Amino acid sequence: MASPSLVWLRDDLRLADNPALRAAMDRGEPVALLYVLDEESPGIRPHGGAARWWLHHSLASLRERVKELGGSLTLRRGPAERVVSQTVADIGAGAVYWNRRYGGAERDIDAGLKSSLREEGVEVASFQASLLHEPWTVTTGSGTHFSVFTPFWRACLALPTPRAPLPAPRALDGLTPPPSSDELDDWGLLPTRPDWTGGLRETWEPGEPAARARLRTFLQDDVPAYDRARDEPSAGATSLLSPRLRWGELSPFTVWHEAVEAHGTAGFLSELGWREFAWHTTFHAPDIATKNLRRQYDAFPWPRLSPSHLEAWQRGSTGIPLVDAGMRELWHTGFMHNRVRMVTASFLVKNLLIDWRRGEEWFWDTLVDADGASNPFNWQWVAGSGADAAPYFRVFNPELQAKKFDPQSLYISQWAADAPTEPIVDLAATRKAALAAYEVVKRTA
Ligand code: FAD
Repeated sequence: MASPSLVWLRDDLRLADNPALRAAMDRGEPVALLYVLDEESPGIRPHGGAARWWLHHSLASLRERVKELGGSLTLRRGPAERVVSQTVADIGAGAVYWNRRYGGAERDIDAGLKSSLREEGVEVASFQASLLHEPWTVTTGSGTHFSVFTPFWRACLALPTPRAPLPAPRALDGLTPPPSSDELDDWGLLPTRPDWTGGLRETWEPGEPAARARLRTFLQDDVPAYDRARDEPSAGATSLLSPRLRWGELSPFTVWHEAVEAHGTAGFLSELGWREFAWHTTFHAPDIATKNLRRQYDAFPWPRLSPSHLEAWQRGSTGIPLVDAGMRELWHTGFMHNRVRMVTASFLVKNLLIDWRRGEEWFWDTLVDADGASNPFNWQWVAGSGADAAPYFRVFNPELQAKKFDPQSLYISQWAADAPTEPIVDLAATRKAALAAYEVVKRTA
């Protein structure tokens, strides 16, 4: 009797370079693909609104493509341990395969499932697919993990070249009948009242085919200008691949190898390195979204939260043109240029003196690339409390940043033409107050 293989998809919504899928096909039995919407397991952070929109469309695209190849993508909802075990029982699976993930709660779930399924005699195997280097394989000379980027990335580059990507399957041997599945629409991932996703729809086409097309265009057209123009928000010089990598529509192995072949610059490759470093850090500090990496920042005397300042920042009504342009770009498109992310984050933390966690939460809800490592890691980098962080006293001046990186105001006039012009705070005075507050941290260090 056939004992089908089950592939449990998570942050790897793709067919190409999917080692778990490849292992299932190599086993030679029919293959079922499963995606679990887990909003219940302890420690799993529920997706934000923009992420839910992306997830819906990426799953819809993948489901269609799996069907065309003769397979089926089963959708089920609930705590992953229960749902995966139930699905194994429903289809009589003899083997379960997945690609590894690196968040703390996620790893606990996966380890629990691995042992319980094995006890029942089910073969289980997990694979490296989402990071070029497993976090535990990159170590300092003394065997510890890295807390500074440059030596981390140097150590990564000294490791063997990342493996070549695997081809996508041409056909899938699915189960007949396919396992029962939820309807994607019933998951309610898309907002209805109101539907605020018009800007997202204008900007993005989620799914693996569009991701591959974007990678191709970037490597053909934009790579030459990358190093020169990557900091200019109106230049369109960056890859826009972050949501593709976040959802695993593209693997970092594919991006790495194709970029190297297309003579992608060391600068672009090292950005992939920052993504690796964010996960490396998160693997070793799983509570990165809530706890300062540098514990002396616990002493930072945050003043009482001003809800009106927080709201002005969220809505792009601070009266600081570059900040407002960034926050409006984010609200409209679910994305913000990296330079502007740094400026808006610095403004929140160091001019409004609002705890970085409030900003991280807003980005989590509004970014289509909201990522459990990159988002808190970068917030802590800007706040000064993070790994290899910008020193606290480095306060971005949004006016100087605008002059330098948006000298013709192209970006500002695209996004903030009708924003208020009266600043809600005085940049110089608030900078001074932030530095005074930082003295407390310095004293406890
Ligand atoms: P490119 O310049 O083309 O870079 C290529 C890839 O490298 C990106 O797609 C991304 O996967 C990776 N990368 C680049 N910069 C970084 C970085 N600083 N940290 C980690 N990975 C990086 N990125 C996310 O993917 N998800 C987030 O939730 C996220 N939140 C952020 C929050 C703040 C406050 C800041 C300052 C940055 C954040 N970033 C986040 C990092 C960065 O802004 C985005 O990855 C980048 O803007 C994506 O644009 P791109 O794909 O065109 O980048």
